[in-house]
Amino acid sequence: MSLFYESLDKQTAFNFKARKKAFKKNKPCATCGRKLSSDKMMVAHINPVKKLSDFDALYDISNWEVRCLDCERKKNIEEKNMERKNAVGSD
Ligand SMILES: [Zn+2]
Repeated sequence: MSLFYESLDKQTAFNFKARKKAFKKNKPCATCGRKLSSDKMMVAHINPVKKLSDFDALYDISNWEVRCLDCERKKNIEEKNMERKNAVGSD
């Protein structure tokens, strides 16, 4: 995350953060529907963006959803398991 912001110039990083903040405001978690305090919620990509240099994908607000940190953690674990399965899956 910090690496991503460091790769942007200051103004772009600021705009991006402001946009994310506005998007997140008063939205419940897209997965579990809970509305938690803002430090427990985040803006996440619906379709994971693999490359941090892919700014178009990162900025694509139609690929954004609000997720709570619990759901984000679960999703990350699921995605890792999927990757592992795909890597092993050979028949
Ligand atoms: Zn959630």
